[in-house]
Amino acid sequence: MEAAESAWEEVSGYDENMNTIRTYQVCNVFDNNQNNWVRTKYIRRRGAQRIHVEMKFSVRDCSSIPNVPGSCKETFNLYYYESDADTATRTSPAWMENPWIKVDTIAADKSFSQVDLGGRVMKINTEVRSFGPVSRNGVYLAFQDYGGCMSLIAVRVFYRKCPRIITNGALFQETLSGAESTSLVAARGVCIPNAEEVDVPIKLYCNGDGEWMVPIGRCMCKAGNEAVENGTVCRACPSGFFKPTQGDEPCMQCPINSRTTSEGAFNCVCRNGYYRTDSDPLQMPCTTVPSAPQSVISSVNETSVMLEWMSPRDSGGREDVVFNIICKSCGGGRGGCTRCGDNVQFLPRQLGLTESRVYISDLLAHTQYTFEVQAVNGVSDQSPYSPQYASVNITTNQAAPSTVSIMHQVSRTVDSITLSWSQPDQPNGVILDYELQYYEKDHSELNSTVIRSPTNTVVIRGLKPGSIYVFQVRARTVAGFGRYSGKLYFQTMTEEEYNTSIQEKLPLIIGSAAAGLVFLIAVVVIIIVCSRRRGFDRADSEYTDKLQHYTSGHMTPGMKIYIDPFTYEDPNEAVREFAKEIDISCVKIEQVIGAGEFGEVCSGNLKLPGKREMFVAIKTLKSGYTEKQRRDFLSEASIMGQFDHPNVIHLEGVVTKSSPVMIITEFMENGSLDSFLRQNDGQFTVIQLVGMLRGIASGMKYLADMNYVHRDLAARNILVNSNLVCKVSDFGLSRFLEDDTSDPTYTSALGGKIPIRWTAPEAIQYRKFTSASDVWSYGIVMWEVMSYGERPYWDMTNQDVINAIEQDYRLPPPMDCPSALHQLMLDCWQKDRNNRPKFSQIVNNLDKMIRNPNTLKAMTPLSSGVHLPLLDRSIPDFSSFSTVDEWLDAIKMGQYKDNFANADFTTFDVVSQMTMEDILRVGVTLAGHQKKILNSVQMMRAQMNQIQSVEV
Ligand code: AMP
Repeated sequence: MEAAESAWEEVSGYDENMNTIRTYQVCNVFDNNQNNWVRTKYIRRRGAQRIHVEMKFSVRDCSSIPNVPGSCKETFNLYYYESDADTATRTSPAWMENPWIKVDTIAADKSFSQVDLGGRVMKINTEVRSFGPVSRNGVYLAFQDYGGCMSLIAVRVFYRKCPRIITNGALFQETLSGAESTSLVAARGVCIPNAEEVDVPIKLYCNGDGEWMVPIGRCMCKAGNEAVENGTVCRACPSGFFKPTQGDEPCMQCPINSRTTSEGAFNCVCRNGYYRTDSDPLQMPCTTVPSAPQSVISSVNETSVMLEWMSPRDSGGREDVVFNIICKSCGGGRGGCTRCGDNVQFLPRQLGLTESRVYISDLLAHTQYTFEVQAVNGVSDQSPYSPQYASVNITTNQAAPSTVSIMHQVSRTVDSITLSWSQPDQPNGVILDYELQYYEKDHSELNSTVIRSPTNTVVIRGLKPGSIYVFQVRARTVAGFGRYSGKLYFQTMTEEEYNTSIQEKLPLIIGSAAAGLVFLIAVVVIIIVCSRRRGFDRADSEYTDKLQHYTSGHMTPGMKIYIDPFTYEDPNEAVREFAKEIDISCVKIEQVIGAGEFGEVCSGNLKLPGKREMFVAIKTLKSGYTEKQRRDFLSEASIMGQFDHPNVIHLEGVVTKSSPVMIITEFMENGSLDSFLRQNDGQFTVIQLVGMLRGIASGMKYLADMNYVHRDLAARNILVNSNLVCKVSDFGLSRFLEDDTSDPTYTSALGGKIPIRWTAPEAIQYRKFTSASDVWSYGIVMWEVMSYGERPYWDMTNQDVINAIEQDYRLPPPMDCPSALHQLMLDCWQKDRNNRPKFSQIVNNLDKMIRNPNTLKAMTPLSSGVHLPLLDRSIPDFSSFSTVDEWLDAIKMGQYKDNFANADFTTFDVVSQMTMEDILRVGVTLAGHQKKILNSVQMMRAQMNQIQSVEV
């Protein structure tokens, strides 16, 4: 301390604890105008902006001093002086306020009454003052006494600072407090290694007391690091542990089926065969694909199946297992399975099933299916292997047929309506019959009448005139009824309508007299008229008979059947229904290729919108036609349009809205078969010829199945395309009518013209045209084909042909004709039409020959002439043998000699009368032998007749 010329003295004394201390004292209370200064040494500022001074001192209580003057003081003043260097002397700075700066007047809160400078007890005060801002390198402090009795025991000078700390993940360096006691000094922290600031820059404030306060922001350990040592260090997660994010949380142990690859891991990678989805938390164990579902059971109901299964034994450790159904249909018997089409329905859905069951419907009836039930979960996609599955094989049953969608009125009378409808799109089996429900529109449905029909055409009788009826139809199979069709309304004729329609029809019908179809209609109508007059209800039954021609008989119930356009009240309606109207702008005629019944036949191009241009044949109706001719012309289209088969000529459509009226069909490059064969005589192999025949038989089988009787099957009515595919054509009905006698092929007969050489005897004799009579014609076509277009029965007259056939003469095999084919012709020419093969058998037979060409090697010997050879020369003439045994040897059936003898068939007379039953009875059991013997017996009978007629 440096003192001025003053009363301050440095003396020894005791503190409160009786420790010896050095003090500065002053006590000039009895002298006036005291001004005693004492100052400290130069104190370096060391960056502080504010300086704190703690003073320990004692002060004598003025009142305790006897006779003390009023000037006695119990306070002193504290000053400071700033200086960049230690330059103060005894005289400078001057001992006075300004240059010194007063900090405060200091008063004692404890004073004492007795001054005992000799070491007695004092009461010590401690006062702290501070000042700032200071900016020079250092300061001096000074204490001014102005008339007190006191002792300055200790002075402590200090500044305040906030210490270097690590807090909130950051390091803060030591920071000195501000210039004012209320100052806050901001300090930026630095994140400790492997920690990062969260959101905002981290800050702390250092207050005047040297305390950190108001933390802002913080640092946290990065992913892969955890805070240790009270948050002062971020340490990398050890191996086997991971920490996925920045934060305070500790590292976690790797979940099951995962591991780390290094220290400081953010995550743990899955072991081989284990996976994690994007949404799986990293703490979750790695998972794997599920095992296959267990115990799949199926319950088939018609064309639906319910599949149920149990959950997989192993879900792969996941709870998101779902199931997918793979549907394969395994039809065709070739062992191959194909994915099911889109039409199969899955309920609730096919993929991603959460429940262990699914209902599958709309399968095909009678079809084998394999269903694979796959188990998949959230990680199945990541596995390189396809999902595990359990499979089940089922075969669907018969199902009820689908709904009949199209029903139309064929005709009506005052008390009947004839309806026809299409077969359901999905019959799902053999349709046994249809059920038609109907009721009068204004009556309750509860009073409806139900009738059954084996076919898709029915006549509903007993209806009221001019009344509207509501109709619904449904099909039935062994699986039961399908659903009823939508309701359709049809009305019976009123009496007036009926009378008008009869008057319109009569002249037309009577004008075209007696023949053919028109004749039939006439009969029908006349009977209707008569019976109505007589009050009978015969009209409908006659009409029905006619319809029965199309609906009854050997056909399969429920089959799609052919509808005669002439059964339509308005045949134009049939054209509209069965033939597509083509806009003439789509048709380009190129050249005339032939002459048809009603006009020229041309070739040309057809370009329908959205389809490729195609080559077509165009039949035109010549101008000046009558309404009837137009109807007859278009009837062919109404018929053709009902067919869809590769061996039946395909109708593209009709042009009726512009002139000329046209029928457009696919183009057949090689024209009609008879002329084609004549032009290519001897050019084809037998297999090629049989292939053509097979095509024709297949087309005829289709037509027969549709219940369509062609009546004019002949090579001239078969068309051939560039691939040698033969198609049945010529469905015009008009050539059977009698008014045109220009074509000698068709001979007039009662009821219409008939192509005698191609026609079965019962059709010639009593107009019994059936598919069996078509089979006869087919035999003739076979003969035409095998003889390359030879005219059947050559130049024999029609009457000679009729007579010869009547006497069981048959066409001989053409040159080079395999005997198997001639045998098939002979079968087609069986007198009894029931013994003729069906077209389906013919197709099978020809297929066998094609598959096994050896059967076509055997030839029948060439016949010697043209006029005699109606006999089958492959069978020896019985008359050249003297005994039945010899005859049996000659027909290579010698092994049955004893059988014949034992049954008394020992003379040609009895043998020639043998029937199939007789042959069976004598013990011939092999079908081929039976046939051979029967044929030989028939031949014997024919030869006997010939002999007899010669004798006559
Ligand atoms: P149509 O009136 O059916 O007898 O036909 C008369 C002639 O026209 C036939 O004999 C064939 O030569 C020819 N023709 C008919 N339709 C076609 C067709 N679709 N393709 C090629 N030529 C045909």
